[in-house]
Amino acid sequence: MNNKKEKSNIELCNKCKQACCRYLTQKISAPRSIHDFDGLLWQLYHKNVKAFCDSTGWHLLVYNPCVHLKKNGKCAIYEKRPITCRDHDAGDCEYGNPISKLSVRYFDNYQSLEKYCKKKFKTWDKRHLNK
Ligand code: SF4
Ligand code: SF4
Repeated sequence: MNNKKEKSNIELCNKCKQACCRYLTQKISAPRSIHDFDGLLWQLYHKNVKAFCDSTGWHLLVYNPCVHLKKNGKCAIYEKRPITCRDHDAGDCEYGNPISKLSVRYFDNYQSLEKYCKKKFKTWDKRHLNK
């Protein structure tokens, strides 16, 4: 990375207050059946857990800051930070392009997922019968 780009990236990071150190994502299998969506709903019952689908597939999104993020916004293990952090480019990151806007589908909470499931499956509300 050239010096000019690095300087502009540092300026961006200072403005955004380290958004990328405050969550994690985990790719999941694409939910297809009522059973799959019921499992995803259970995951979204948990605090700060969201789900989204983009061009790379489905993911869980968990808003929970990294333990190495210091109060002053610096990384406590900067020299030894993981490759995931090193590969994250401020020139192409979620600052100004939030995941919610870039996703094909975004479920901010269990209510929005439940609404989607009710539309998708006519028998959604009857899924507990016979269990
Ligand atoms: S890489 Fe992007 S999201 Fe992370 S701190 Fe910098 S500007 Fe913010
Ligand atoms: S290891 Fe450092 S750079 Fe990586 S998420 Fe944690 S605080 Fe951020």
